[in-house]
Amino acid sequence: MKDIKSYSLKELEEEFKTELSLPKFRAKQVYKWLTLGVNSFDDMTDISKELRNNLSKLYYISVATIEKKLISVYDKTVKYLFKFNDGEFVESVVMNYHHGYTICISTQVGCKMGCTFCATGKSGFSRNLTPSEMLSQIQTSQKDLDIRISNIVLMGMGEPLDNYDNVVKFLRLVSADEGLNIGMRHISLSTCGLVNRIYDLEKENFQLTLSVSLHAPNNEIRSQTMPVNKRYPIEELLKACRHYAKATGRRISFEYAMISGVNDSDECARELAKRLKGILCHVNLIPVNSVEGTGYIKSKIERQKAFINILGKAGITATVRRTLGSDINASCGQLRRNTISSTKTNHKAKEE
Ligand code: SAH
Ligand code: SF4
Repeated sequence: MKDIKSYSLKELEEEFKTELSLPKFRAKQVYKWLTLGVNSFDDMTDISKELRNNLSKLYYISVATIEKKLISVYDKTVKYLFKFNDGEFVESVVMNYHHGYTICISTQVGCKMGCTFCATGKSGFSRNLTPSEMLSQIQTSQKDLDIRISNIVLMGMGEPLDNYDNVVKFLRLVSADEGLNIGMRHISLSTCGLVNRIYDLEKENFQLTLSVSLHAPNNEIRSQTMPVNKRYPIEELLKACRHYAKATGRRISFEYAMISGVNDSDECARELAKRLKGILCHVNLIPVNSVEGTGYIKSKIERQKAFINILGKAGITATVRRTLGSDINASCGQLRRNTISSTKTNHKAKEE
């Protein structure tokens, strides 16, 4: 069976013509229903029963069903655990910022990169997500909350650039006029730094925001917390970032999770400032979320302030990212881990 929701409209028109000898308008009709997020061909009410039957023999509709839903009592951030057709789980988080709703979606079930501070990295890798499964996370959330999502961040479970082809296909689908129509300028992609793929992404000429998870100012510290740094050392990563920013004219966002006593000294800030000099960028400081078994604790407010000051004096803008949904472990990987090992969920938050 073929994954019908991973086709573009043009591809579906071609497919229907060659496989079923159907005119273009049929593909348009079906595509409209798929974009609305229907879960079954039977919901496509303006299509004959016979055709719906035929379609269901050749194609399947990939869906994300809600397995768990947590709502933050502080800020109404919603975290979902979604289940796909094959029973795998991923997490998505919907946040309400002033300018609208942002969804943080997953791109893989698990992750191969093994960052030591990350809940997803600790649970290993299961498989890549298809473009349709990335779309489904958005569609199910929109339907469930009765909202329109305006921004997407690829910062959930998984390393997007390790699932490059599917992620690029998803980006084209989600930004298409005839699809969900969420413009590239409203999309951020976060990577741990797969250098060869950053060069590939540059060539796609997307207007998205590239976020790079840096989390350390040098190879010594970075290789300790992010194994990927052994493959692509910080010099090569920053060279690629410099190139990317220059070629695209887009500001790079560097993520820096502040871990007490690991990467948050004044010396680290000075070294970071030196490294980033001349790159069109912004630094997002995130007090690290403690994940069971890591032993990491977040840097104190004074440390965060000192860090920003040092970067600021060196001409590098940095802000501490507002954390939403702190009571529901809104950073991804933790809910799936808890569900799979069927242990605790967070009782402070409301569960539905
Ligand atoms: N794999 C990609 C995107 C998913 S992770 C990446 O690594 O960039 C999304 C972001 O959450 C990354 O910046 C990642 O470094 C960060 N992150 C993971 N675990 C975290 C934790 N415990 N505390 C704070 N940030 C964390
Ligand atoms: Fe993977 Fe990103 Fe987690 Fe690292 S931080 S293990 S790259 S999801």
